[in-house]
Amino acid sequence: MKRGMCPGTFDPVTSGHLDIIERAAALFDDLVVAVALSPDKGGGPLFSVEERCAFIESATAHLPNVSVRAFDTLLVEFASQVGASVIIKGLRAVTDFEREFQMAQLNYRLSTDIETMFIMAIPEYMYLSSSAVKEIARHAGPTRGLVPDEVHDALVERLTGSR
Ligand code: ADP
Repeated sequence: MKRGMCPGTFDPVTSGHLDIIERAAALFDDLVVAVALSPDKGGGPLFSVEERCAFIESATAHLPNVSVRAFDTLLVEFASQVGASVIIKGLRAVTDFEREFQMAQLNYRLSTDIETMFIMAIPEYMYLSSSAVKEIARHAGPTRGLVPDEVHDALVERLTGSR
């Protein structure tokens, strides 16, 4: 049985992440979405790890081979702990490449049992990121379609204090 792992901060999950998760789920028997606690990233996440996991759980409820787990260890350690042999990352523009290349090299150095694979973002989501979505929401711009509806509502509530 081949188990893959899609790691990220997912603060919050976007349609771009979900596209990668769906495509990765079709390639593996089983896929674990690994949600990093990331307490220090960019001044701390907007949503708690429980909220981030719950958003992904509802958005992937139609994918029976996908499960969601929070982690706060080295990624390769968590992958081997849950029996995942492949890490799948989404690649957007070239700007992602350098960082992802470095992380893949480091992870390979830490564990040669775990491979990193990349799936290219589709053009519609090439420029979509969690931080862009938060910036749009903060200025009461339209985020519907960029994130699941549930996340859209939570962003509006959290960032503008209204519904
Ligand atoms: P980031 O890397 O932007 O801080 P995450 O850690 O949540 O965000 O991202 C997890 C993974 O999802 C990374 O591999 C990232 O490149 C990928 N990803 C993020 N947004 C998209 C998108 N719009 N399309 C494809 N992949 C994406």
